[in-house]
Amino acid sequence: MAVQSLYRKWRSQTFAELVGQEHVVQTLRNAIAEDRVGHAYLFTGPRGVGKTTMARLLAKAVNCLHPDPAARPCGTCEMCTAIAEGRAVDVIEMDAASHTSVEDAREIIERVQFRPSVARMKVYIIDETHMLSTAAFNALLKTLEEPPDHALFILATTEVHKVPATILSRCQRFTFVRHSVTSMAAHVRRIAAAEGIALADGAPEAIARAATGSMRDALGILEQLASFVEGPITLHHVQRLLGMTAAAEVDALIAALLAADLTAALRAVNAVANQGADLRQFARDLVERLRAVMLLKATGDRTLLDLGDDEAAQLAQWAQQAEMTALVQWVKLFSNLDYQLRTTPYGHLPLEVAVVEALLAPAPAAQPAAPRPQPARPQPATPVVAPRSQPVVPAEPPRPSVASQRAPADSPPVAPSPPSEPAMPAPAPVADPPPPPPAAWVAAQQARPPADPAVARAADAELSLLEQLEATWEDFKRDVRPRSPTVQALLNSARPYDVEGNTIVLLVSSSFHKERLEEPKNRAIIEEVLRRRLGKVYAVRCTIEGKSVEPTDLRGKIREARKDELVRAALNIFDAQIVDIEPLEPE
Ligand SMILES: [Zn+2]
Repeated sequence: MAVQSLYRKWRSQTFAELVGQEHVVQTLRNAIAEDRVGHAYLFTGPRGVGKTTMARLLAKAVNCLHPDPAARPCGTCEMCTAIAEGRAVDVIEMDAASHTSVEDAREIIERVQFRPSVARMKVYIIDETHMLSTAAFNALLKTLEEPPDHALFILATTEVHKVPATILSRCQRFTFVRHSVTSMAAHVRRIAAAEGIALADGAPEAIARAATGSMRDALGILEQLASFVEGPITLHHVQRLLGMTAAAEVDALIAALLAADLTAALRAVNAVANQGADLRQFARDLVERLRAVMLLKATGDRTLLDLGDDEAAQLAQWAQQAEMTALVQWVKLFSNLDYQLRTTPYGHLPLEVAVVEALLAPAPAAQPAAPRPQPARPQPATPVVAPRSQPVVPAEPPRPSVASQRAPADSPPVAPSPPSEPAMPAPAPVADPPPPPPAAWVAAQQARPPADPAVARAADAELSLLEQLEATWEDFKRDVRPRSPTVQALLNSARPYDVEGNTIVLLVSSSFHKERLEEPKNRAIIEEVLRRRLGKVYAVRCTIEGKSVEPTDLRGKIREARKDELVRAALNIFDAQIVDIEPLEPE
C-alpha cells in the first residue's frame, strides 16, 4: 500500500467536503458564484493543511460544467473528474521543489500563452513556489504582469518570505491555518470508520497531536498503523509507532509539578517507567512542553508555538498558574537528564531524583554545574576497555578491570559529551555492585593483545557516531523537513542502525521505505543534511528490519557490548573505549 494513498483517496472533491480553512472557502465560493475569479492566487501556510487540495478545487470550479456557478465544482462532471484524476491536460501541476531543471519550469510557465485545449481556463498549480529558479520567477512575473484571459495561476508555499515581492503584489493572498487537534481527530475518526479501521479511545487524538496540524501527516500515520496493527488501533500502538511517550503522563507530571504534589509527580514518572516507555523521549517531551509553557508565560504569543487550539488553551492555563523562575529551573533541570538517562544503570532513578529536586529546591535555584562524581569503587564491567586518549594497549594482568585501565589524571577528557553537562549529580554509585550484565561478553582475563587494535579503534569511533546519530535523530529529521516533507515522513519509519566507514546504515521497516529512501534524489537530501550536521560526507543506505544476523566479528561484538547500559556507563565514566571482547569462560 502506497503511503498517503488515504490522503489522496479522501481528498475533498467539493468545497462542502473540505475540513477547516472556512475563511478561504467562503471568499473563493463567493468569487466563483459571482464570476470574478482573478488570475493569480497565492496560498500560504504550513504543509499538509490543504493548500493543494484547495488549489484543485479552484481549478475544478473555474472549469466545472455544472450550469449553476454557485454549485461549482460539482465533483461529478467530466471536467471535475478529469481534474481529480490528474488527466486534465489544461491543469498543470508543478512541484517547484522537485523541478530542479531551470529551463523546464520556465518553459512550462511560458507555454501558458497557448489557449487551453479543452477547458475554459488553463490552470497552473505551482507547489513550493518559493523554490522556483530565478529564471522561472522572471517568466512567472512577466506572465503575471499581463496574464492571458484564459490563465489562472495558483501558487502555494510554506515559506512566503522567500517569494519575491514583485510576485506577491500580483497575487490575491490567502493564509491557511493549522488544523486543530479536535477537528483533525474528528476527520481521522470519520475516515477510519469509512475504511473499516477500528480505533480505540484516545487513538485519533494521539494521531492528530503527532501530526501537528497536518492532515496529510495524520492520514499517513493512520495508514501506517492500519497496515501494521491487527485489530483495533490503540493509543499504545500510536505511541509505539511514533516513539512517543504518553502525552497524558507528561501532562500529569506538569500538573503535579505546578500543584507541588510530589506524590502525584512520582506516580506519573513510575507510570511511564512501568509502560516500558523510552524515558529519554519522555524527558524530551516533558522539556518541550515546559518550554512551551515558559514561552507562553514570557510572551503571551501562541504563534511562537506549534499548537492546536485545544492544546494552546491548556498551556495558557498552566502559564498563568506557573512561576517564571520555577519554569526556567525545571526546563534546565529536565533538559540535563538526557545524558544521564542514556548512561545510568539505574533505570528511571535520575528522573525521580529530578522530580524531587524540582519540588524541593527553592524556586530560582541556579544549578551549579557539579563535576561528575568519581565512584568510590569501580563497578565491574565486562569488556576490556582502554582510555581514548591513550594508545590502545592490551590489558595488563592480573585483573583487567575498568579501574586498571583508568585514564591518567592529567589526560584531557576527549569523550564526546553532550553540550550540557548534567547539572545535578549523577546517581551516586552504591556500595553494592549492580547485577552483572548479560554474560554474553566478558573481559579478557589474561594479558593478551586484542585481535586488531586498529579495527577496535575504528569500530569504537563508528559506534560513537552511531550513538550520536541516535541521540539526535529527531533533530536530524526536523532539519530534513524543510527540504522534503516526503523524505522526512519516510524517515519516520527509519532509524540509525550502523556506521560502516563512510556509510551510514538506516534500519527501515519495509522494502517500500528502502526503495523510496534510496532513490537518488531522496538520498541526496539525506546526505546533504548529514554533511551539514556532521561536517563530513557520508553515504547512506538502508537495510530492512529482521535481516540482521548475530555478530561474529569483533566489530559486531563491540557493537553488542555497547548496547549494555552498564558498559556504556563505564565507558563514559572512565572516558574509555572497548579494545577487545572475549567469550565468558565456563567456571
Ligand atoms: Zn463539475
